[in-house]
Amino acid sequence: MIDRIKENRRRRIKYRDDPVYRERCKKCRDSYRKRNRRNLLMKKRVVYSIKKNIINAKRRLRYKEDEKLRMLCAERAGDYYGKNKEKIIRQRGAYQQEYNKKLKLKIFSHYCKGVIKCECCDETEIDFLTLDHDNNDGAKHRRSLGCGSGSGFYRYLKKNNYPQKPRLSILCFNCNMAKAHHSVCPHKRKK
Ligand SMILES: [Zn+2]
Ligand SMILES: [Zn+2]
Repeated sequence: MIDRIKENRRRRIKYRDDPVYRERCKKCRDSYRKRNRRNLLMKKRVVYSIKKNIINAKRRLRYKEDEKLRMLCAERAGDYYGKNKEKIIRQRGAYQQEYNKKLKLKIFSHYCKGVIKCECCDETEIDFLTLDHDNNDGAKHRRSLGCGSGSGFYRYLKKNNYPQKPRLSILCFNCNMAKAHHSVCPHKRKK
């Protein structure tokens, strides 16, 4: 054990002081990395998934304190963004859409009563479903929050841990509109 530590120290010093040795080491290291690229990547991924928080905190700290690194990052990011602008915007759009879809599902599963469907007509197509303010003051409420409608409102609900006030129900767009205009949905009037 001690021999190993001594040996490693000797190697480190040699690496630092002997340029020929250093070059040889680098070549050897590069070829090792090339040969084991897949395994090394996998290892990296595993370590990252375990130590994610620590690694990211360290990176953030370094980014904050190291101006050179910051400049380099900005330059690289700018380069990358400039060259791949269209692709990035497209990807971002797709990601956003996917995220909003999942968010809506999450919100609706919190506010539904067992099954995600219109509480008036049983419509289940999620794209038709909306969150209805029971006392028809949704627009006013959202304006007071300044969160916008749709995804903005969903993000507000998630952030605030799914508040129960004001009362929200799931209605399809038709039932929601009918209720807003006539205060009672025609479905209910017939009954
Ligand atoms: Zn309905
Ligand atoms: Zn209805």
